[in-house]
Amino acid sequence: MTQNLKFIKKQDPAVYKAIVGEEKRQAEGLELIPSENYVSQAVLEANGSVLTNKYSEGYIGRRYYGGQEFTDAIEKLAIERACKLFGAKYANVQPLSGAPANVAAYFALMNPGDTILGMDLAHGGHLTHGHPVTSISKVFKFVRYSMKNIETGEIDYEGLRQTALREKPKVILAGYSAYPRELDYAKFVEIAREVGAISMMDIAHIAGLIAGKVVKNPFDYGFDVMTSTTHKTLRGPRGGLILVRENEELAKKIDKSVFPGLQGGPHMNLIAGKAVAFGEALKPSFKKYAQQILKNAKAMEEVFRREKVRMITGGTSNHLILADVWGSLGVSGKEAQTVLDEVGITLNMNMIAGDTRKPMDPSGIRFGTPAITTRGFKEKECARVAELIIETLRNKGDEKRKKEIHVEIIKLAKKFPIPDKFI
Ligand SMILES: *Cc1c(COP(=O)(O)O)cnc(C)c1O
Repeated sequence: MTQNLKFIKKQDPAVYKAIVGEEKRQAEGLELIPSENYVSQAVLEANGSVLTNKYSEGYIGRRYYGGQEFTDAIEKLAIERACKLFGAKYANVQPLSGAPANVAAYFALMNPGDTILGMDLAHGGHLTHGHPVTSISKVFKFVRYSMKNIETGEIDYEGLRQTALREKPKVILAGYSAYPRELDYAKFVEIAREVGAISMMDIAHIAGLIAGKVVKNPFDYGFDVMTSTTHKTLRGPRGGLILVRENEELAKKIDKSVFPGLQGGPHMNLIAGKAVAFGEALKPSFKKYAQQILKNAKAMEEVFRREKVRMITGGTSNHLILADVWGSLGVSGKEAQTVLDEVGITLNMNMIAGDTRKPMDPSGIRFGTPAITTRGFKEKECARVAELIIETLRNKGDEKRKKEIHVEIIKLAKKFPIPDKFI
């Protein structure tokens, strides 16, 4: 995946050195952060193309500047492919990332002061779902639903309904960044319709799994709006995406809210990257990839169960696992993250539901299979990685064993180089 960097190398050795260092880090380490992935060379080329030079404020056929013959063609391709991929009638491909996609959607669907009902942040909801540190939490009133049973992951749908009846939210928001199970979408839609709320699902983490048709598509159950990132399981460039199932009024409001409501000029190089990545995701090979992500996560789940390391919700039905390493192995999440980094495994510490520790040093770790599956890992390799994670944490003070594990990890990574293309 080495890029041609001949101009940077000559002109700016300091930046060159850092990019090459990052390339080596990505090639030699194992990436288990469940929100990360590797894009194809085709997507990288689009990202690095001359489209970065162009201002295209506005939408297809109605831009504020001239010279839009090619940018219009690119945005049209991205929209058409996104709609096909997710079964949507309308798509806005301009959001710069997942967070601005959510902010734009909130302002399209609500007025300041309105109420939105979303997942408890400690139970898997995302920062942009109203964490007190975000600006958006000062604009809208966020109320919460949560899991009824942490050991199975079952959502408290009756509690959700009672809160919806009491708080009369304008929006009921499903979606998460640290929850390993599927939601009962029909229930969400039923409750939203009962209280007259718009149903919105943030699919940022599982977009690739939905596109690959290995998990349920919320639109099949009547959800109104979906927001997403394009760089996680979907394996595209960094960026955001908003989809509307069929309501034209909603789609118009969302377009206005993205531009001029929130953003200025769209990043056309990234929109070209999105078009290329959506094209890849429409191919049969992407379905195979999505299937393998799930199989690989299951293989890791089995090892954690066998080794009696507690998993939140008891396991996984998607691409990620949340493990209670503090409760099961006596290693805090932060320490686990650091020790695993030393042996070449990158994952992140994470709060778990009912956590007794603090966010900067929580009880859990979160890891997933999208990136290693892109490398070509199958169940056998993933099971071995799960064993090595647990062994590293059990031997965190044994420098000799850790060195051996690091050697094994580098060998495994070299055996599965990051591919240049997927179709
Ligand atoms: C990652 C994520 C986002 C934010 O995406 P950024 O591209 O980091 O801004 C929003 N919602 C969910 C559920 C996410 O997982």
